[in-house]
Amino acid sequence: MPDIQLLPETLAFLDRQHGQFIAGEAVAPSGTTTAFGVTNPATEDVIAQISPASDAEIDQAVAAAKASFEQVWADFNPYARGVMLNKLADLIEANGEQIAQLETLSSGKSINLSRMFEVQQSAIFLRYFAGWTTKIAGETLQPSFPSMTGEQYSAFTRREPIGVVAGIIPWNFPLMIAIWKLGAALACGCTVVLKPSEFTPLTILRVAELAREAGIPDGVINIVNGMGDVGAKLIQHPDVRKVSFTGSVATGKKVNLTAAADLTRCTLELGGKNTAALLKDADIDRAVGGLLQLGYIHQGQVCAAPERVYVHASRLDELLNKLGGALSQAPMGSPLDESVLFGPISNKPQYEKVCHYLNVANKENRVVVGGQAVAGPVNGKGYFVQPTIVQATSANDILMQEETFGPILSFMAYEEEDELLSLINNTPYGLGTSLWTNNLSATMRMIPKIESGTVWVNLHTMVDPAVPFGGVKHSGIGREFGSAFIDEYTEVKSVIMAY
Ligand code: NDP
Repeated sequence: MPDIQLLPETLAFLDRQHGQFIAGEAVAPSGTTTAFGVTNPATEDVIAQISPASDAEIDQAVAAAKASFEQVWADFNPYARGVMLNKLADLIEANGEQIAQLETLSSGKSINLSRMFEVQQSAIFLRYFAGWTTKIAGETLQPSFPSMTGEQYSAFTRREPIGVVAGIIPWNFPLMIAIWKLGAALACGCTVVLKPSEFTPLTILRVAELAREAGIPDGVINIVNGMGDVGAKLIQHPDVRKVSFTGSVATGKKVNLTAAADLTRCTLELGGKNTAALLKDADIDRAVGGLLQLGYIHQGQVCAAPERVYVHASRLDELLNKLGGALSQAPMGSPLDESVLFGPISNKPQYEKVCHYLNVANKENRVVVGGQAVAGPVNGKGYFVQPTIVQATSANDILMQEETFGPILSFMAYEEEDELLSLINNTPYGLGTSLWTNNLSATMRMIPKIESGTVWVNLHTMVDPAVPFGGVKHSGIGREFGSAFIDEYTEVKSVIMAY
């Protein structure tokens, strides 16, 4: 099928000179920093120009967030906060096609996925957080302290917003992950300064404008653009009270150290080497559908996606035959073509990383399906690779241990349940694991022994606003969603009274 038609408003947004979004305004480039280009990974064309934030602009953004926190947002009527978040969700949907197009043009995500995740899921998450604004509450407590002079005591706790939050966002789901941070922070009464990835800054800039239209007061949401150094300066700012980071383990460790130096609160959502484990009774057709959909969507650039698959030895050949057949028929091409399932890798450094891992697989002669970089549909350009199946020889193979963050799934057989558990836990990561089985006893025995923030059964990667999400071991610190996010964005103040 041909590519979809780009909307005039998409083209107009690309043509603008973008800088920062501070105190409710798109700030024109200051001219003190050199603009960088946003590249379409399907064509390698530069599609927009962004000026990175100067030190002065980082200071202005934090000052705007601090002023709006102290003067407006922390004490804003909770119901009215929820109304505004709901209104922003409506505006994201109303402008959904423009947002989806901007996302696909800058990240290579298929247009269907951009509509589903960056638009619809963003709206769903915002509405979930909107519902919490009126339900954030402390406790009433009865102290046991002995009375000296006949007085009695009572105590209660208040959940108070923590202050200015710095949100550092990766490039794989740039709007949805920004909304996770923004929705949680704003629901609790915090204000934010967000630093998007240099590769995907466009959609959140557009949504910041919609936030103003939704009535969210100026300064509550601010965006500073640039490379890692802008993020590093932002989190060191003395008026930032909390850092919420999503990204790689290597950067997350640096961010954690920097934040800890000033005792700034910090939550980290980091990488994973997630396992799908097929037990002896697994429904192979169901697992094939799940792996195809959840292991390879967005070219595997999904933090919770399965990258290594342990299969009971009696079922490995059947799985590889069926998955290999399905994978070779999946259409690859322009992400603006609605019939396409696999588009390009999102950016050049990530493409080079994935090509490195394909070389590793080819050198060891372990490729079952795929394994090559391929020419893109426009003049052979773009960062395209084949979705790939690799058969591992050992649980310690590079491809069974290192996060590729690409469309490469490695498969290995196992025999016994105890062996499977030690294989699942044989990684420094602990984000997500799936069990594919209808054996209830085995499932219930295994769940407590799996070192992982989430365990899925007969599905993988599903993230829902009602269910806490985060990692153990090197996959992170803290939880997003559920009611768990309230702990991360509020301080508990205790009040004790004598009467
Ligand atoms: P990076 O860690 O490279 O970057 C994440 C963000 O941090 C970017 O905005 C980056 O800016 C910024 N940054 C870089 N250096 C610093 C620094 N010293 N201080 C502050 N900020 C900095 O990750 P990617 O963007 O490459 O994202 C991919 C990774 O994210 C994968 O490992 C993936 O597993 C993980 N991830 C985890 C998720 C989870 O929820 N657990 C969800 C999604 C992704 P810039 O890009 O401009 O350099």
